[in-house]
Amino acid sequence: MVLLGGIEAGGTKFICAVGTGPDDVRAEVRIPTTTPAETIAQVIDFFRQHRSPSDPLAAIGIGAFGPVDAQAGSPTFGYFLNTPKPNWQQIEFAGALQRALAVPIGFDTDVNAAALGEFYWGNAQGLETFLYLTVGTGIGGGAMVNGKLVHGLLHPEMGHILIPQDSAADTFAGCCPFHHNCLEGLASGVAIEKRWGQKATTLPADHPAWRLEAHYLALSLVNFILTLSPERIILGGGVMAQTQLFPLIQAQVRSYLSPYLAIPKIITAIEDYIVPPQLGDQAGLMGALALAQQALTD
Ligand code: ADP
Ligand code: ZN
Repeated sequence: MVLLGGIEAGGTKFICAVGTGPDDVRAEVRIPTTTPAETIAQVIDFFRQHRSPSDPLAAIGIGAFGPVDAQAGSPTFGYFLNTPKPNWQQIEFAGALQRALAVPIGFDTDVNAAALGEFYWGNAQGLETFLYLTVGTGIGGGAMVNGKLVHGLLHPEMGHILIPQDSAADTFAGCCPFHHNCLEGLASGVAIEKRWGQKATTLPADHPAWRLEAHYLALSLVNFILTLSPERIILGGGVMAQTQLFPLIQAQVRSYLSPYLAIPKIITAIEDYIVPPQLGDQAGLMGALALAQQALTD
């Protein structure tokens, strides 16, 4: 197998790796997200150090925080667009790497990359239509539909869908700077910490925070199931380390969808339908290697 590069470009750090897949990562580095000039130069240095005449890098894949331009053929393909992250608006990334390293570059959102990682090596192997949702600092979704990662208008921004707030149980105003109480505003890690005034990691497993969290996530999943018709949903991100959320979410999704959508996957096998990523927190980085592989064959 040829040697590939992968980058998980996040708002706080860029994780770069060289390898061929989850069982063969030869080098990895974490580079803080500072200014574009500084961070991108360090990324290029890393890949220059880890290629050799006997093992040249064949391609690099990037999964990036959004919004980004991931439309092949667009004049701003591989750019960060109007991200709220200071200094990173309208910044060219894929093209800069391509010029410096002279290899094909695959580029997509961080969540589409994570979805692709799970498709290659994880819990979405063999599926054609599925959803990867991350619940962390923010909420984002990547989707494959009929074998292709979804881009469309720009790319899905599933974290910002509108769901009914439970105003009797929850008076929190929501923390999304754009929409206040959208899904991310109500159910991201930041929302949990602002609502309850403590770190999410310090909330005990039986704290009411988790029942409310499961309620909001279940509402969102019902919407995604009814629109995308995914064959499976993978829930990743830091908040989902609270594994007690899975049975709560599964039970609520089943209850919302039955009897209308009373099919076996929902009624009797929901534990296999709403699942964690098999690659854990490596899904995004491994997905970036998979994007590199795709860039080679495209
Ligand atoms: P990011 O979204 O920044 O890429 P993560 O997916 O790790 O990174 O999400 C980080 C967020 O997840 C933190 O803001 C925190 O609120 C939450 N989080 C991290 N670990 C846990 C945990 N064990 N339990 C609950 N929440 C957690
Ligand atoms: Zn929002």
